Amino acid sequence: MPDPSFLLDGMLGSLARWLRIMGYDSNYLRDEEDSALLTILGERYLLTRDKQLAQRAGPRGFYLESDDLDVQLSAVVERFGLRPHLERTRCTACNGPLEKVPKDQVKEKVEEGTWSEHQEFWTCRECGKVYWHGAHWKNIRNRLDRIS
Ligand SMILES: [Zn+2]
Repeated sequence: MPDPSFLLDGMLGSLARWLRIMGYDSNYLRDEEDSALLTILGERYLLTRDKQLAQRAGPRGFYLESDDLDVQLSAVVERFGLRPHLERTRCTACNGPLEKVPKDQVKEKVEEGTWSEHQEFWTCRECGKVYWHGAHWKNIRNRLDRIS
């Protein structure tokens, strides 16, 4: 079975970022009307805080009862059997795929300290944002360990 992909309503920006970190294709549309979300849903699952909207999406709708990010993430992980794929994390800003790049390529794009401390860098193929495994990486692992 291919990995599920997701469309999230405007209330779920943090959850979208976390699903991207875990490597899942997750579109988050802040200003879209409910009916527009249903129109563009396609093969994706709709994650929403709106119970009625979830029902309107039928089997592709998933209602999230809690406001709490950990609870939301656990619910989605459990429902869809997700596993963190940290080796193919997506861009948290735009959902684009990341690509490992030679260190020299990012020299002008990150601070000097960051550049000298790290050996591996990735950039987003869509928006160009640069990623590396900094201190926040440990926090990410901790949260994922906690919920899975
Ligand atoms: Zn991006």
